[in-house]
Amino acid sequence: MADPAECSIKVMCRFRPLNAAEVDRGDRYIPKFQPEETVVIGGKPYVFDRVFQSNTTQEQVYNACAQRIVKGTLCPSQHSDLLAFTEGVTVTRFSMFTDVLEGYNGTIFAYGQTSSGKTHTMEGNLHDTDCMGIIPRIVQDIFNYIYSMDENLEFHIKVSYFEIYLDKIRDLLDVSKTNLSVHEDKNRVPYVKGCTERFVCSPEEVMDTIDEGKSNRHVAVTNMNEHSSRSHSIFLINVKQENTQTEQKLSGKLFWLTWQAVRRAEEAGLNVLFLQVSKTGAEGAVLDEAKNINKSLSSLGNVISALAEGSTYVPYRDSKMTRILQDSLGGNCRTTIVICCSPSSYNEAETKSTLMFGQRAK
Ligand code: ADP
Repeated sequence: MADPAECSIKVMCRFRPLNAAEVDRGDRYIPKFQPEETVVIGGKPYVFDRVFQSNTTQEQVYNACAQRIVKGTLCPSQHSDLLAFTEGVTVTRFSMFTDVLEGYNGTIFAYGQTSSGKTHTMEGNLHDTDCMGIIPRIVQDIFNYIYSMDENLEFHIKVSYFEIYLDKIRDLLDVSKTNLSVHEDKNRVPYVKGCTERFVCSPEEVMDTIDEGKSNRHVAVTNMNEHSSRSHSIFLINVKQENTQTEQKLSGKLFWLTWQAVRRAEEAGLNVLFLQVSKTGAEGAVLDEAKNINKSLSSLGNVISALAEGSTYVPYRDSKMTRILQDSLGGNCRTTIVICCSPSSYNEAETKSTLMFGQRAK
């Protein structure tokens, strides 16, 4: 396990604009912003690593929230400062795959009540360069990275997309496969046996594959709320690299993207959209433990607080979700939490409770 000091959690806070219904109802716009890091609600200041006002663009959010994680995930180095890389340190071309095996993880969450902007932040519009959210921008970054590499290197990229619903793994790119099982390869990395693997050559093909999988999520679902509360979708990108001059071949699971809507009991009125980027495949544990995952939001808060306080005891084992995320929340990881809020006076109580969740992580 890496030095805990290497682990960093950043908490960002984003307010969406008032929507038409809120304006029509005459709701007040309640947040007051102080430069960059503080938002004041009802006279109480809440401080984060960064606060985004309602007019912040998707690109600004991505740059502040995710870029460090993506760069680090693509080319992590256990010994060099991640920031140094984002400022332009060149990484040798094969380090990507050796480092993949060293187990650097990055996680990005969005947290907030329904309609607070989680989907907008994480996905946005997949096909519009200005409006795309964090996930499609990550995909773009990966391809830009690959395009910038030596032309003697060939990359073969394949994607899989599946969901776990009521403890069954369903292939979202071939709906006839409804109950796939998890196996381990010879390096003990879990994989879903028989799952469709689709070769992709461009960011657009990745977006089309995401669209296809999302539309299949809706097939045979009678109650979408019920479904989204229990399902857990995983998008996997696998990259294989070949040097055509030396015929050297390397392959590695570059990372997983996982995102899921986890809806808490109705009365809490909160839900979480979650994105995980990691490379070790260790979150194959997800596949075994996805059941009842929506019970675990308070445990997640406890784990994040313990990590933020530098406690020696971190209660990962209190819930399945935190056990699954153990590799992505502690140790050698970078975690960003985006707290999403409505600015309306009508939602003041939920907004305060969301902000408190974020404060616990500070
Ligand atoms: P959630 O996923 O939290 O339920 P959504 O992301 O679906 O919420 O957002 C609800 C609505 O608000 C959507 O129509 C979305 O486009 C809009 N919205 C959310 N955040 C923003 C923002 N920052 N700027 C403009 N519109 C936004």
